[in-house]
Amino acid sequence: MLKTVQDTLKRPLQDLRISVTDRCNFRCEYCMPAEVFGPDHSFLPKDQVLTFEEIERLAALFADLGVKKIRLTGGEPLLRRDISELINKLINIEGISDIGLTTNGIFLPKQAPALFTAGLRRLNISLDALNDDIFKKMNGRGVSSKAVLKGIDTALQMGFDIKVNMVVQKGMNEQEILPMAKYFRDMGVTLRFIEFMDVGNSNGWNLDKVVSKKEIFQMLSKEFELIAVDASYYGEVAKRYKYKEKDAEIGFITSVSESFCSSCTRARISADGKLFTCLFASKGYDLKSYLRNGSTDDTIKNEIISIWNHRSDRYSDLRTNKQLGTKDKIEMSYIGG
Ligand code: SAM
Ligand code: SF4
Ligand code: SF4
Repeated sequence: MLKTVQDTLKRPLQDLRISVTDRCNFRCEYCMPAEVFGPDHSFLPKDQVLTFEEIERLAALFADLGVKKIRLTGGEPLLRRDISELINKLINIEGISDIGLTTNGIFLPKQAPALFTAGLRRLNISLDALNDDIFKKMNGRGVSSKAVLKGIDTALQMGFDIKVNMVVQKGMNEQEILPMAKYFRDMGVTLRFIEFMDVGNSNGWNLDKVVSKKEIFQMLSKEFELIAVDASYYGEVAKRYKYKEKDAEIGFITSVSESFCSSCTRARISADGKLFTCLFASKGYDLKSYLRNGSTDDTIKNEIISIWNHRSDRYSDLRTNKQLGTKDKIEMSYIGG
């Protein structure tokens, strides 16, 4: 039995997030602002993007090292052709007990059946506002919230377990907090409020644009009675509450106001096969070269172990302590959420 792979802060390697593409059909201002990711932006060339077979091999190696949960993300993962074939491969890996996918939801009306048939059961769907003017502005492509709601409805009908992610940005969509909470509470769907984060270098982040968990909670408490729910596993990111009157939950991802680095068990693989040990890293470790130069599984596993053993990332903790200088960080659309 393999000993748990731990980093310098004794955090085990347990979760793997795999970005399957750096492309997206949206231009959310907080992630891929249109003025930065314009028509001339160069995305990864196809031959640099990991194939499904390469992703499957890497995932199996991570599973050997103790990873149990995989999340597929992007860019927009449903832009990757035949993504359900990849899900089918990942589901059959020994040791992987949970697979989720994060999506903006637009392609779900078409793709949900194939995803379900492939064995996927958990979806995180991003939606920042019900109000169309606000949502159209936020997604940078003028797409109506109805298109995402249609995706959510389709996925619910298919039997998916769904969480909705809402990034809250001051001056942009705070007025949507209550309408969103009511809407998804009545549907019995978990809504998670995500504090606007300083990922990448292009989203114009500053602390004044963050609406903290505390502020959101105060707003919600005026309308609803909320009861705290204990974390259901080590390293659970969301702080959860349930409604007293209704069988539904909300969650908060408090990367800015209450960092959770001390239990961060997540490794991330970019679409071109680099391993990142933090969402705010500036450097990744090139695993694709190993996959393509004939290295054995043991060599690659030893490399991953060594990288994780040396890991000391705790960017959000340091941000909370105001210890950060500016840094050349990777973009969210490249590494996924
Ligand atoms: N395109 C898919 C989507 O939007 O769901 C998957 C990739 S997206 C990068 C993953 C998650 O990151 C989304 O829920 C998105 O809202 C969130 N996100 C992106 N930029 C963010 C930021 N600056 N702060 C907080 N969350 C962010
Ligand atoms: Fe695309 Fe998701 Fe980023 Fe929005 S948050 S631009 S949908 S990758
Ligand atoms: Fe993990 Fe880095 Fe986020 Fe801290 S800042 S929780 S180490 S990804």
